[in-house]
Amino acid sequence: MARFMRGRGKTTRRKKKPRIHEIAKCRFCREKVSEVDYKDVDVLNKLTTQQGKMFSRKRSGNCAPHQRSCMKAIKRARFLGLLPYVG
Ligand SMILES: [Zn+2]
Repeated sequence: MARFMRGRGKTTRRKKKPRIHEIAKCRFCREKVSEVDYKDVDVLNKLTTQQGKMFSRKRSGNCAPHQRSCMKAIKRARFLGLLPYVG
């Protein structure tokens, strides 16, 4: 019993380090872009995986309005053949 419980009670918790990314918020907000351009493939490529899937808001660091704008831009770019579909 005592052996089983060892290491459970007194665990030293690490202090949460402030992340660098927390200072810099949304990349489009910083550049003051109102709407994401679907022709800007270099930017859109950074927001997708190699398979063409979009990054989540948590991963990309975008704010909600810009993430929505991104989603539209990526879907438009896919339709025009600038970006690949998932697969
Ligand atoms: Zn934003």
